[in-house]
Amino acid sequence: MTSTTRHVCDVAIVGAGPVGSLLAVVLRDLGLETVVVERDLAPYMLPRAAVMDDEIQQVFHAHGLGEQLRAITTPMRGADFAKPSGERILGIDLPEAGPLGFPPVVSHFQPELDAMVQRSAEARGATLLRGRTAMSLEQDDDVRLRLDDGSTVVSRWLVGCDGASSWTRRAMGLTLDDLGFDQQWLVLDMELSPDSTAVLPDVTRQVCDPVRPTTFVPGHARYRRWEFQVQPDDDVEQLASDAGIWNLLSPWITPRDARLVRSALYRFHAVVAPQWRAGNVFLAGDSCHQMPPFLGQGLNSGSRDAVNLAWKLALVHRGGAGDRLLDTYTTERLPHVRSTVEHAVDTGRLIDQLAGRQSHGIDHSAGYGGARPQPVLGPGVCVPGHPWVGHPMKFCPQLLPALAGKPLSFAIVSAGPVPTPASLSGLQVQHVLADADTMDRRHAIVVRPDRYVAAVADDDAGLEHAANLLVAAL
Ligand SMILES: Cc1cc2nc3c(=O)[nH]c(=O)nc-3n(C[C@H](O)[C@H](O)[C@H](O)COP(=O)(O)OP(=O)(O)OC[C@H]3O[C@@H](n4cnc5c(N)ncnc54)[C@H](O)[C@@H]3O)c2cc1C
Repeated sequence: MTSTTRHVCDVAIVGAGPVGSLLAVVLRDLGLETVVVERDLAPYMLPRAAVMDDEIQQVFHAHGLGEQLRAITTPMRGADFAKPSGERILGIDLPEAGPLGFPPVVSHFQPELDAMVQRSAEARGATLLRGRTAMSLEQDDDVRLRLDDGSTVVSRWLVGCDGASSWTRRAMGLTLDDLGFDQQWLVLDMELSPDSTAVLPDVTRQVCDPVRPTTFVPGHARYRRWEFQVQPDDDVEQLASDAGIWNLLSPWITPRDARLVRSALYRFHAVVAPQWRAGNVFLAGDSCHQMPPFLGQGLNSGSRDAVNLAWKLALVHRGGAGDRLLDTYTTERLPHVRSTVEHAVDTGRLIDQLAGRQSHGIDHSAGYGGARPQPVLGPGVCVPGHPWVGHPMKFCPQLLPALAGKPLSFAIVSAGPVPTPASLSGLQVQHVLADADTMDRRHAIVVRPDRYVAAVADDDAGLEHAANLLVAAL
């Protein structure tokens, strides 16, 4: 049946996967009218992502979803690369709480997570149009999206969160750069039976097996994930058959221990779109970057996109910044995600290398617990010059309690009263007093609405200067 319904909103989102739904949550919390169009009637029931890092846990907590998240996640105890015997080659044991106060990594069952975030978006008043497919798109001052039932969504902005084969990306003629990784893996999700006596690692493990590199992930509750690298001489049909699967699992478990939740053959690859914006249309999540899962950073990266874009759309919507602020979405996120994708590729190659299959010249810094520097935001709303700038507040976690409960806005953290720089006066800046020890002799720290550090100043003049530079980007 053809509909003539016309939905009008500030932001239309194509795709209610985890990234689109989280974007809707954050936008609603910032007061923007949001319509999400989703092709499927129910959340995608097969798991892909298995772990979430502490930065994204903090986002859930900041938006009042902390307790719901805790109920569906399990802290990860560690991660390593090991010989087939189980002997650790390199790795890390994870503490109960990391610098942000949350477990550094938690495991989850993605269908539960996706359903929770979708429900939360709707509970906040986002309109979720399920069972509708985006069909055509036009933009001038507005973006007009036509759906398969004939209805339209008219919005100021549209964000394509429609996954790896993104319709939005293709509709806008945006492309993907291939960063050169292509491996086929068989991914198995299992649920252990309550009476299973199988003895399995309690850490994520890359088994550097010269015959067949294998990944094991201890999932939430009784879920466990295995990933087996497909070899050139494999009969793929046989490998993925019931008999093939149980043969692969035989060193670990038997059919008495677990049921198969699903099996899927995936091509793990590494691609990044060089441009994430076309006019008032943006891409986020898998639609603009995909990476092999060895770091568990695909969904985490998409969540970072959502948080980065949301506060900028909200600020432009309120008249606190001009349209060019929205260009910083790509300039900040693209180098960050590119570095994450390259790291994930190196982690994958390190597995092969440590298995003695092929040397790629990758050093151990690409492994878990390795010394690879954290990715940093590219140029945008940050004043470089201090190591904390362009990073989440992991590097100054002592400031987080002082910011807890503050609304999403810019904040100036200082040990004593500091004047609001004139250039920031239109921005609803929060002042947060921290004790002198916490500030560690720093005069003032400017924190962005997404809780990334924007600037660190040594005195009032430095703060004024930093504020001028920040405002120039808005
Ligand atoms: C084996 C594997 C393991 C992984 N492990 C991890 C991990 O541990 N941690 C991690 O962070 N990431 C991991 N990932 C990556 C993670 O699963 C993805 O990054 C994440 O699911 C992407 O979310 P998304 O919302 O961008 O896209 P999707 O989840 O693909 O959602 C896109 C949505 O858009 C809808 N849609 C598409 N086209 C249209 C249209 N035309 N109209 C309307 N709706 C449309 C779809 O129905 C879908 O609901 C893993 C991936 C794989 C394959």
